[in-house]
Amino acid sequence: MTSDQYRDDGCVAAPELSGVAVIAAADGEIDEPTRAHLQVCPYCATRVRQMRQMQTRLRRQFYRLFCPTTDLLVDYCQGLLDPYQRTVITHHLATCSCCASEVALMESIEPVSDMVAPRAGVFFALRHTR
Ligand SMILES: [Zn+2]
Ligand SMILES: [Zn+2]
Repeated sequence: MTSDQYRDDGCVAAPELSGVAVIAAADGEIDEPTRAHLQVCPYCATRVRQMRQMQTRLRRQFYRLFCPTTDLLVDYCQGLLDPYQRTVITHHLATCSCCASEVALMESIEPVSDMVAPRAGVFFALRHTR
């Protein structure tokens, strides 16, 4: 039963940190006992590091939740949005490399709408040369 504490890849300073302590430590909220534990226990230090990586990934996904839809970005590229929406998206593009590169990609593609909606195409071209 107790041999569990002495696994090679296990916690070397049992009791190992609880899940809550690992999450708190990943958040930078490290109290003294946790700090002392992490200094001697590579296993738990790894758990904290992994938790931090996961949180970073989650945060990135969460951040992406606030991104405009691709449809909106297409409209933005074609100059079809109202001024308010444009401002919001312009601001968003300044802070979001995901969407900025999506827009750059769209702007590098010839507008296919030429045949269906010539005016939108002209609008696009005008915007593009500004
Ligand atoms: Zn440990
Ligand atoms: Zn975005």
